[in-house]
Amino acid sequence: MKKVLILTAGFGDGHNTAARNVADALELISDEVKVEVLDVFQSSLGLLNDVLKKAYQGLTRFAPSVWNGIYSMLDHAKGLESNLLAFGNLKSALEQILTQSQPDCVLSTYPVYAHVIREIYRDHSERPFRFITVVTDSISVNSSWFRAPSDWYCVPNEATADVLRKNGVPGEKVKTFGFPVNPVFAEKDQETVQAPKADGPIKVLYIINTGKKKSGKAVDRRLELPRVHLTITVGRDAELKEKLMRRAERFGERVRVLGWTNQMPRLMLTHHLVVTKAGGATVQEAIAARCPMILNQVIPGQEDGNAQLVKDLDAGVVARKNRDVAEWIAAAFASDARLWKKWRDHLTKVSRPDASLRIAELALHECELDGPPGKLFESNQPGITRPGKRKAANGSIEAHMLLCDFHIHTNYSDGKLTAPEVVDFYGRRGFDCICITDHLGDPRRLIGKLSKLLNLTLGPEQLDEYFDVIARERRRAWRKYNMLVMTGLEFNKDGFSKKTSAHLLGIDLKAPINPALDLPPTIAEIHAQGALAVASHPHIMKSEWGKNTLYLWKNQEIFAPLIDAWEIANRNNIFTPVGLKRLAFLANSDFHKPKHIYSWKTLLHCEKEPEAIKECIRKNERLAITLYRDGLSATTAAPQDLENGARVLKLDMAPPLGRLSA
Ligand code: ZN
Ligand code: ZN
Repeated sequence: MKKVLILTAGFGDGHNTAARNVADALELISDEVKVEVLDVFQSSLGLLNDVLKKAYQGLTRFAPSVWNGIYSMLDHAKGLESNLLAFGNLKSALEQILTQSQPDCVLSTYPVYAHVIREIYRDHSERPFRFITVVTDSISVNSSWFRAPSDWYCVPNEATADVLRKNGVPGEKVKTFGFPVNPVFAEKDQETVQAPKADGPIKVLYIINTGKKKSGKAVDRRLELPRVHLTITVGRDAELKEKLMRRAERFGERVRVLGWTNQMPRLMLTHHLVVTKAGGATVQEAIAARCPMILNQVIPGQEDGNAQLVKDLDAGVVARKNRDVAEWIAAAFASDARLWKKWRDHLTKVSRPDASLRIAELALHECELDGPPGKLFESNQPGITRPGKRKAANGSIEAHMLLCDFHIHTNYSDGKLTAPEVVDFYGRRGFDCICITDHLGDPRRLIGKLSKLLNLTLGPEQLDEYFDVIARERRRAWRKYNMLVMTGLEFNKDGFSKKTSAHLLGIDLKAPINPALDLPPTIAEIHAQGALAVASHPHIMKSEWGKNTLYLWKNQEIFAPLIDAWEIANRNNIFTPVGLKRLAFLANSDFHKPKHIYSWKTLLHCEKEPEAIKECIRKNERLAITLYRDGLSATTAAPQDLENGARVLKLDMAPPLGRLSA
């Protein structure tokens, strides 16, 4: 087993995205590799993070010489300002991680790590692993990148390769693989958009960043062109989404408003044009997808390089004013889309959708070159390797009981973690089976359609994506953690009182179910899919959702024959009456955030296989409930503010602050 450690930092756009994509690519091309993505800044610097973020933006962007001065002081700093203390912390944290995890190859998507690693191994004849720098900046790449001592430099484009070579990096060390976009971009038989037919629809993707409230007018203007079909993504701003949906109603099928999505690759591949700000990852993804761009915002000092890149490639335009966007769309598709075709041709020449796969291959190759014996990788570090993976899945009944949790929320509804983060969180803890059950609201019951409430539940337009994403995670979880992942939904039927409110779990669903159905037909649909219908928190409890949900309990004579199991415990609540009535039971976390892992769980004695698990629950024999605690910090692998669900592990191991001056 090879071990690759990927170092990233959540500053600015692109570092985390690149790290996550290379990790995905590595897992895709090899079963013989263990990949960890780590943001040491998050873990070692705590509150100083902000200071450092400013230092990075201030120093690396505008004054490389000051930045270099800081490196030279790294080891000689005594009684310096807090940000220098932070570098000392970073060094000792990273040293500890490297000693314990013993990687074969380290990849960095953030330049500072290379300098710190040089400091760590200053007195060694050589560092004990291969090191690859993945440059995520374009053109405006600063000296902290090319002064970073590395075995390889992977760069997004020729222009960036030039900058490195001109600044003394040996040409043979520079690999122009492209920016590591999601490996999905490189999938064969991908659905891609063709040039629009004369008078045919023009498909425009409009990415709205949070904080942009005045988007309504812009949308109207874009739609004045009758051929334009607009897909709008608004991120997690439910209020804006609601507003735009209402505003777009009169355009019917021509407008689609999406909330948070992780289907960006597919969206870019199937649209003619993307309107976006000049964010690093987005621009690079559009290049990979050969999707010409209209940039409607460029953040000075951060995104100039990306804007310059689009201009240099002649692959789109920077619209000076937001109101120029509509004119540019018209211009691009005038005269048989002449301008658009030119942009598209230029992109076809430079598009490298397989960059993350090429970088992953290089990393694997480096592991072969310099691989220490694989044994060294068994680490005791909590969070770096998961607790004892149980080999199973050969069809035999396992000696141990399966640790399961069938009630888990992600940020598709009101949970804090993304679906991949949830999978890593449970996988690391050695769970055998989990079911993701995001809230699905009943549109008939959302009186006044409060957007606040909408934000807490899955939108009907997100359901297909939700099923796709969990299916993908199911494959990854099985490969990486030997853990089963099921798709579920929590049907929220909230009335005006607790007696008219019910939450129902569908466990191991194969397809979406109409959220507007009444409870009995919903249960029938669940059963038609071979899934389980489970009453969630059916009795009086301390609820974070708001009111208690007693409808199912109050109408037991109707529902007891229909329902497969009742939650006897939910989070820290335990419902004795469910036991007294001898109803079939389950115990679940109702997980919304990492600290909810400390809660009631179900243990099953059966084969680790979905049908066997469901049958065990239906029969309600050979199962038990347990109050679960583990030794892992609840904050491990629980990033809160990462862009687009970056799967980044944070170690909770901040060294003492005074260490540097000691
Ligand atoms: Zn609930
Ligand atoms: Zn719930």
